[in-house]
Amino acid sequence: MNKINLKSLLYLIIVPFLFAENPPSDKLKLMAVEKVDSQSKLIQEMVDMIYSFGELGFQEIETSNYLIGILEQNGFKVTRGISGIPTAWMAEWGKGKPVIALGSDIDGIPKSSQMPGVAYHKPIIEGAPGHGEGHNSGQAVIVAAAIAMKEIMINEKIKGTLKIWPGVAEELVATKAYFVRDGYFKDVDACIFTHVSSNLAVTHGQAGGNGLLSVEYSFKGKTAHSAGSPWRGKSALDAVELMNIGWNFRREHLRPPYRIHYIITDGGDQPNVVPRNASVWYYLRELDYEHIMELFDYSNDIAEGAAKMSGTELISTRILGSAWPRHFNEPIARAMYTNIKEVGLPTWDKKDQTLAKAVQKEAGNKEIKGLPTELDSLRGPVSSKNNWGGGSDDIGDISWTVPTVTLRFPSNIPGLPGHNWLNGISMATPIAHKGAVAGAKVTAMTLVDLFTDKGLIKDAKKYFKNQTKETKYQPMIRKTDKPAIELNEEIMRNYRNEMKKFYYDPSKYDTYLDQLGITYPTIKKK
Ligand SMILES: [Zn+2]
Repeated sequence: MNKINLKSLLYLIIVPFLFAENPPSDKLKLMAVEKVDSQSKLIQEMVDMIYSFGELGFQEIETSNYLIGILEQNGFKVTRGISGIPTAWMAEWGKGKPVIALGSDIDGIPKSSQMPGVAYHKPIIEGAPGHGEGHNSGQAVIVAAAIAMKEIMINEKIKGTLKIWPGVAEELVATKAYFVRDGYFKDVDACIFTHVSSNLAVTHGQAGGNGLLSVEYSFKGKTAHSAGSPWRGKSALDAVELMNIGWNFRREHLRPPYRIHYIITDGGDQPNVVPRNASVWYYLRELDYEHIMELFDYSNDIAEGAAKMSGTELISTRILGSAWPRHFNEPIARAMYTNIKEVGLPTWDKKDQTLAKAVQKEAGNKEIKGLPTELDSLRGPVSSKNNWGGGSDDIGDISWTVPTVTLRFPSNIPGLPGHNWLNGISMATPIAHKGAVAGAKVTAMTLVDLFTDKGLIKDAKKYFKNQTKETKYQPMIRKTDKPAIELNEEIMRNYRNEMKKFYYDPSKYDTYLDQLGITYPTIKKK
């Protein structure tokens, strides 16, 4: 039994004596925790269901319909298709101030289809996408917390508005800057974002990792017979290759925290036709806005040089996504961390630990530590000097628009490579379910803080004012840019019919593991 359950019991027994002395927020937080506990079946179903959909960014059709259904059933008013993104929405409940927004990502990872609870590579469908990042779990956390808070607000006559939104296509960092640009956070006082992790944690100040600009360069040349008259052709693929070579030389002369990676999205049609069209897609990452835009300038120069060298034309420079580096709000993070300590880590059983250790072994890790049993400490800003770069999340744009924190909750196994089938293994098992329940409790308790402690919002806004005193948010997307909603369409078209056969059916099976007939945990025989 974790700490909070014990406390709830004590509360039930001695409540008549303590009631008068306890500050009301303590009472409300216990109610919040109980209301989350009572939704643990819903949390398990949501986590499992979205895992079974395994949809890629911008194609989260089943996921969005499913979540909107749950939200509408629970009295939320849902505006669909915000920012011109079919799978995005804004759900709203309540009235007046404060307005608290809750968000979490929903998209999957290419080629990460994996049987949950099985500690070796066993795809549900070979080559299909899946939740090899764990974005199937975060909406369960915020929806359960919001429902708990909503009931408390009704019973206790607390004023305010709850908003819930999805991180569509987070892996492409392709939507949150549009939500900001289109004013969806204008009236929001604070935002709680949640992300899967292997511990229950929150940070404040400048986060580690990078911001990024995602941009696709397209070149146009001229076709000709590749053998008969190659001198009459101009190869757009040459431009792409020269651009990549240019960048790969330029890398040597950049400061260390940068990350640059690319894929060729169009390399021509067939070898005997000189490629008329070719495109290459770059992620340009650095620590701050100025350095990211500097990389963008270099990149544009290199692209133009490549066009000149190959005698082709650079026909488009399309921004597909962007993410500001993240900066989290200290007063809200501190309030949240107090709640984290109250809730504590889930109680892992032997099966959970057996799976975790087998997965860590499968990943080739030297250290086989299993799941954490101790909470992380509350970490503060990562200074630029100590930041060696890394991943990005477009929650960064929101964190520079309204006071924001990211709650990390323990639904995954530590020590894994990320964006890999290994990271999907725990994501529809008791590890993910327990981690999401813990995360929902912390979120609900922090909602109680935000809705009942006026001083907290005031402090959060004061901190935010200071945060944005010198660094002013300016979007990396241009006024004419539009969300790249066609991305991943083709991949999903190829796999969706096959994937449908494996959608979770909670009316027939208690859990997704049951439906797939998996013994938990399934590990390699020695
Ligand atoms: Zn993520």
